[in-house]
Amino acid sequence: MDKIGLYIHWPYCTRICPYCDFNIYKNKAGTETALVQAILLDMLHWREMSGPRNLVSIHFGGGTPSLLSAANLQKFIKTAQELWSPSNDLEIGLEANPKDINEKALAAWHRAGIERLSVGVQSFDDSALQFLGRDHDGQTARRALELATNIIPRVSADLIYGFTNQTPDMLQNDLRTALTSGVSHISTYQLTIEQETAFGQAEKRGINKAVDSDTSADLLEQTIDTMTANGFNQYEVSNFAKKNAQSRHNLLYWQGGDYAGIGPGAHGRLTVDGKRCATIAALKPKDYIEAAGNTSHGIAEQETLNAQAWAEEYLLMGMRISGGINLARYTEISGQRLAPEIIRQYEKSGLLKKMGNQLSATPKGRMVLDTLCHELLSY
Ligand code: SF4
Repeated sequence: MDKIGLYIHWPYCTRICPYCDFNIYKNKAGTETALVQAILLDMLHWREMSGPRNLVSIHFGGGTPSLLSAANLQKFIKTAQELWSPSNDLEIGLEANPKDINEKALAAWHRAGIERLSVGVQSFDDSALQFLGRDHDGQTARRALELATNIIPRVSADLIYGFTNQTPDMLQNDLRTALTSGVSHISTYQLTIEQETAFGQAEKRGINKAVDSDTSADLLEQTIDTMTANGFNQYEVSNFAKKNAQSRHNLLYWQGGDYAGIGPGAHGRLTVDGKRCATIAALKPKDYIEAAGNTSHGIAEQETLNAQAWAEEYLLMGMRISGGINLARYTEISGQRLAPEIIRQYEKSGLLKKMGNQLSATPKGRMVLDTLCHELLSY
């Protein structure tokens, strides 16, 4: 049976961070029930579209899904397990804000079925957290990880690097604190400035919020060195894990697998009868709820990808991970081979590695991944 993952987007946050360009809305009291019903309807629709599948992951992202009640998390998990056949190593993950983490909440999430927690630490440094407009401090983040690692089997700490005034020492402190916290997975995201955010507006007024690209590359190199020296493998550009602690849900994205995208603004991918379809759910919670009420699903856009778009996505996602892409699979999707002479050229310059049919970027290649992928796709 083919695999499927399930992504559920909970779009509400208690406050909006100045750098965030996700599909998010200020949390409003009394909106949970209607959105939960709409999501459940959408799940049924996805089951009709996908047919029976082996359910390998359920991921609650956002927004801030840790604002959802444990009873509703459990309802989603139970429904998903009834609709699809849960795999033996089904991953059930929740993104959580440090402020929402306490012993009672953790125990309730664990009882509901959550076995992986991704904690939005961002930094342990109070001045950095203030700069990033977060509503928690370093002590709250440290305590959140301490409690989480006691109760949830797999915990990840998410960090942000590359903000103005971040020194290598500050980064090192954040990495060291995360490494000694007991987590088995660490994500390090580069701060990128998106125009429509408060940081984007500040940049337009000439106030820098992010470091330049050279400094950012140095910070990334420092991160990779520190992580690998401490037994964390960089299995994806921004993600590091101990053995067997990788995010199976995210691997599904990077490996070109299928996933139902449920909840306002969620993206999905589904392959049926050799055709790959891309979906986007209605963005605004109000529209999503209305759509689900009228049509029994929340999908606002749906298109079948042509061979080129599908192959391009397979390559761009797959080259992010250390395992890389399968060249035969690429040819199967696109109907074309990636130019062997270009592959050889980049192998010689130490940017690509080819083992049988697997093609991946070397650590040096990952530092220039966008250019490298662009080059591979232009021949
Ligand atoms: S809590 Fe997360 S999703 Fe919400 S605004 Fe902040 S960064 Fe964005």
